[in-house]
Amino acid sequence: MWLKKINLFNFRNFSEKSFNFNPFTTIVLGENAKGKTNLLEAIYCLLKGKGFREQKEVELIKFDKEKAKIEGFFEEKDHVFIHQILIEKSSKGVEKKYFIDKTKKNYHQFVKASTKMVLFSPDQLKIIDEGPDQRRNYFDRFLSEEDNEYRKRLNNYFNGLKKRNKLLEVFSEEKKSHFLEDIYFWNNYLIEESSYLVEKRKKYCDFLNQNSFLDEKEFFIDYQPSIIDKKKLNFIFKEELRQKKTLIGPQRDNFLIFIKNEKHKNIHLFGSRSEQRLGLFWLKINEIKYFEKNFKIRPILLLDDLFSELDSKNRQLILKLVKNYQTILTTTEKEVIYLIEGFRSIVVI
Ligand code: ATP
Ligand code: MG
Repeated sequence: MWLKKINLFNFRNFSEKSFNFNPFTTIVLGENAKGKTNLLEAIYCLLKGKGFREQKEVELIKFDKEKAKIEGFFEEKDHVFIHQILIEKSSKGVEKKYFIDKTKKNYHQFVKASTKMVLFSPDQLKIIDEGPDQRRNYFDRFLSEEDNEYRKRLNNYFNGLKKRNKLLEVFSEEKKSHFLEDIYFWNNYLIEESSYLVEKRKKYCDFLNQNSFLDEKEFFIDYQPSIIDKKKLNFIFKEELRQKKTLIGPQRDNFLIFIKNEKHKNIHLFGSRSEQRLGLFWLKINEIKYFEKNFKIRPILLLDDLFSELDSKNRQLILKLVKNYQTILTTTEKEVIYLIEGFRSIVVI
């Protein structure tokens, strides 16, 4: 399934605008603040039913307007499907309505009928250059979208964790026996729920390590789970009472990414900006491989401003890796056009 065309009405800075795409590479060229990221966000909305920036959804609608519309034309086996989203201001913020070929759908039906997508955006560099919680969020989000069971277990785990932390906060010697009964219950609950999470995270990191190469560059991920079990919980119990919170478990897992050269180099601490970009791209290219392997689907790639800070060798490397997918990439630099051979279109914004 590939995206042929998109029509935007009052979406972010666009009043009324259409864009056509190439089944392979489309380069969206434009100066700063022209709407390149907004265009990718509109495509993201069509595929995921929501925007990718963490601001309020009402900001998807053009300032001063009441509603926006995104309309996409997808082609699959010579058939064209029209996917539409209406975004309207409401008392709750916004209300979204979904349609495929003019028939109303709910959010889940709409997203299910769309193809998979992989987004690279400069905001995501925080996955690499910030702390372990950013990487946990990234893996949790990705694995939750791919596996419902993971999503459920993750929810259960965090609800249980909240309850257990609450208990640790209100502990008092007088009510100790009652307290212990409750805490044992939550201990078992957290141990049970965490085992699925750890197993899934471990499997995905194994998959990443089996696909360690980005062309000639090689990466490695070291998954360091903070295992929660009865023995460890007993051992740290006093300290948990002192700090009034749970000190072990998947909320403390660490993921470290290394670039392999003579020595393993931790890219979070020692990577240059370009190495960090490539590290993030390595994660992204593996999302594609994962979709292809498990869903037999060729995802659409959205690359927002990936090329800045990369030299021409690294740009070539990326273009080589993405050339078999429908890729829509944005840039402010004209030179990028000349790097791409073969079937491509240029959209000047
Ligand atoms: P850069 O090269 O700096 O990344 P860009 O081309 O990606 O720029 P966008 O982030 O897409 O630019 O934003 C384009 C413009 O759209 C910005 O000036 C932004 O303020 C504006 N904008 C964002 N939301 C809305 C909205 N709801 N209504 C009107 N304009 C908006
Ligand atoms: Mg941008």
